[in-house]
Formats: sequence, structure tokens, C-alpha cells
Amino acid sequence: MLIHQAAFEGGRPLLKGNLHCHTTRSDAISSPETVMRQYAAMGYDFLALTDHRIYNYASYAPDTDLLVLPGMELDAGLPGPGCHCVHLVSLGPEREKGNGFAQDQRFDSVKAADAAAVLPMLRTIREANNLPMFCHPEWSGNTAQEILALPEIGLMEIWNSGCAVENGLDTHGAYWDELLCGGRKVFGTATDDGHHPYQNGLGYIRVRAEKNPSSILDALRRGAFYASCGPEIYDFYLEDDKAVVLCSPVETIRFRHFRVPYMERKGPGVMGHQTVPVKNTNYIRAEIVDAQGRMAWTNPIFLDEAYWKSLE
Ligand SMILES: [Zn+2]
Ligand SMILES: [Zn+2]
Repeated sequence: MLIHQAAFEGGRPLLKGNLHCHTTRSDAISSPETVMRQYAAMGYDFLALTDHRIYNYASYAPDTDLLVLPGMELDAGLPGPGCHCVHLVSLGPEREKGNGFAQDQRFDSVKAADAAAVLPMLRTIREANNLPMFCHPEWSGNTAQEILALPEIGLMEIWNSGCAVENGLDTHGAYWDELLCGGRKVFGTATDDGHHPYQNGLGYIRVRAEKNPSSILDALRRGAFYASCGPEIYDFYLEDDKAVVLCSPVETIRFRHFRVPYMERKGPGVMGHQTVPVKNTNYIRAEIVDAQGRMAWTNPIFLDEAYWKSLE
């Protein structure tokens, strides 16, 4: 049996985009137009301008080819010392396709007794036909239990350039695997969350979608994308009990599945293909690392008991 991860199915384009960034509409130093022109110059297809607590559909550089994906970032403070909070990016379709938020609609920061008290914020996002993305859990001082308390989370950042550059918090993969081992179907994103120009362009997703918000949202819901800081992934599939990844030249390829330590292969800048045997797992995903240390992550292929029975 052959199962391709959803990013590598179908004949749609593979768009490049950033789901999380800031401008002078909240606390970043560049204007929305400057930020849009920076991403357009870097060859991005789409960008969500997710300023804190203010919704945006507008393009501030309509003469560029850069598509604006509607969105914003909401936050809730949790109790305790230090930085302890939940940040959610809300991403939506076009207004005429049922997006319930308005341009420049403003929201308040919420004080929550615990992560479960964030559920009304999630409901607000869902009722507006938007998709929530759990942001930078390590920076927010979250436990995996706090993400587990939010059952509707289907997207989370596993790379956030701002946190990596400013705080050295460079991967959230451990959170991801804890959720996946627990049976949660969560897809992983790489974003910039840039507040300064030098934080922009370091982490992005490649999405199998047409260049409009509805198609991109649909692909995000289905996991038809991969996350990267540079390397390219050409295919990721399971053929019976063997997982295969095809990618640009890298030095490390790792596979991760249910409670199995990384199965890692290393080589000096030559590997663009790797296969590992797998069995009796509910998911498998792959990570690759190039010679500059830049990573890329496939989304998981999810499996069930019936799949493994069919191979017996
Ligand atoms: Zn945030
Ligand atoms: Zn942010």
C-alpha cells in the first residue's frame, strides 16, 4: 500500500508563505507596506499580517503579487510568575467566503485561570470560520498538557524565527511528538513572527494549494504542506512498512514515530533520499537538516490498526 503525505498529492502549485508576522499595526518596527514589500522581494506567494488583537484582510502593497491571508494574533495570560500565556494566530478565508471577522476588528487580551479557560477564545475563532494555530509554546511557558486541554488545535508552530533568533528556542518538536503519540492529529508549521526585518524570511511553509485564502485554508486543515527553514522536500510517503523521504541535498535525515527515538542517517551533503522500516505506529514524520543547520519538517502520515493488520 502506498500513502503519500498530503503535501505531495495532486497537481496544485506548491506555494511559499508565512502565517505569522507583525507590523506597526501592533508592536513591530516596520509598516505593513514595508513588511509586504520585503516578503514580495523574497519570492513569497502569501503572507498573513497577524498583528496583536487586530484583524487584517487588507493588502498594503497591492501592486505586488503577494496574497494577503486574513488573520490576527490573540492572547491570554495564564497565572504564575514569568512569561505564561497562550498565543493563538487566527487565520481565515475571504470575507465573502464566510469569514466572520471585520477589517480592523479589535480584541482584548484575556486573563485565563488555566489553559481550559482559553476555550471561549477558540470558540470565537471557530465561530468566525477561522482556523486557530497554537504559537511558540516554549516561549509561552506552556506544557504539552496545556495544549492537550485545547482539543480543537490542529495547527501548531514547531519553528518560530523570532523565538529562535531572540531566545534560542529553536524547536518545538518535543511538544509535537507528545501530542502525536497521544493520538492528536496536529500539523506543524514554521513561521517568522517577525518584529524586526532581520527576523523575516527564516521560517516558512510550502502549501499545496491554489493562490487564494480558501484554498490555502483547506490545505492547512488537511496538512497539505511542509515546514522549512531552507531545505526542500520533494516527496514523503509510506510504501507498506517503509517510509521514504526525497529532498534537496542535506546532511541529516531523521524519522520519528511512536515512542521510537530518532532514526537518524548522516552524510556529508549528499543525501536527498532515505528509507526506513516502520511498524505498529499511529504516525510517522521526517525531519531534515542541511549543511548550514537549517531544518525542514514533513507533516505526519497518520496510520491506524487496520493499516498494520492489512499488511499481515
Ligand atoms: Zn505570540
Ligand atoms: Zn506574534
